[in-house]
Amino acid sequence: MDSVKVHLFAPGLDAGGISARARFSGMALWVEHGDSRLVIPADRLAVKHGGFDGRQWLLEWPAEGAAAAILLPAGGEGERLLAGAPAALAAQLDQHGRRDRARSLRFRVGMALVGLFVALPFILLGVFLANADRIAGWAVGKISLAQEQQLGDLAFAQMRSNLKVIETGPAPAMVQAIGARLTAGSNYRYRWFVADSPEVNAFAMPGGYVVVYTGLIEAAGNAEEVAGVLAHEVQHVELRHSLKNMVYGLGWRAVLSLAMGDLSGGAWAGMAEQLGGMAYGRDLERQADLGGLKALRQAGIAPQGLLGFFAKLAKQDGNLPAFLSSHPATAERLDNLRKAIAEQGDYPAEPLPYDLKAL
Ligand SMILES: [Zn+2]
Repeated sequence: MDSVKVHLFAPGLDAGGISARARFSGMALWVEHGDSRLVIPADRLAVKHGGFDGRQWLLEWPAEGAAAAILLPAGGEGERLLAGAPAALAAQLDQHGRRDRARSLRFRVGMALVGLFVALPFILLGVFLANADRIAGWAVGKISLAQEQQLGDLAFAQMRSNLKVIETGPAPAMVQAIGARLTAGSNYRYRWFVADSPEVNAFAMPGGYVVVYTGLIEAAGNAEEVAGVLAHEVQHVELRHSLKNMVYGLGWRAVLSLAMGDLSGGAWAGMAEQLGGMAYGRDLERQADLGGLKALRQAGIAPQGLLGFFAKLAKQDGNLPAFLSSHPATAERLDNLRKAIAEQGDYPAEPLPYDLKAL
């Protein structure tokens, strides 16, 4: 049988994948690109169906501890390749066939409404191949709140074993109480954790997981500074910065698995590491600062702690705290914070009733 043009994603290749040709021969899938040839036994292949328009086929197989895949062209060419698939794949293909008839009808009804944009999926696919980053942004926009919670649960489960979480006592109680004030009315169901570690660090994860290290609480001069950090971190969840970073970091496999509606697969295995080393850009930090100030005001907590804590960390010489590597406190940023606080003006704020030294 003739080979069919496909798009190949594999470890070591360009993140956007490369063009290749594929065919079934005997009991295996043969994929050729340049002078290289991959022969993958059919029983190692996982069939996925869905994609940007509900008509794309993806054949995935384990490779070098990660996964490789080919994306088949939509329509006739892809079907032609699958027609040559050996019996080992018949059950998987059948299953998709049955499940997808309903989906395909829904898709056609949807498409009739947007008949003009019938080429959109192909354009999207083209854009994806040319610019995976922008499509990652698009994919993030398609993630529902419930799916984000699910991803957050997965990521936190991956990370939790590396954290010494303090479950009870005054520190978690304080973080929980301040956090609840800062997120009143949010769509997210926040979960607050204190981790026992001398590192000056705190981070937020998709779906509303917030972790504060005891080192950060010790470095803070008062509860308002802790509240400032929390107010800032919460914005990275509310504005979906942490979700975007995670999807960008995981790359095309996460994007494809989102497009396939698959949140359970191996594409999400490295989530926790992605979040660990994550830095936000200048624009996102600014957004989180401004949103944080608003949240502090709504909660009736003085805003100076947010500025004070970052200014204090920025002044330290030598070993910079982990928190600053993911949230750089540049002079420009501190200036902007100062200005925003001045513009906001004074508002009634009771001092927070926590004595950090007693903790
Ligand atoms: Zn930040």
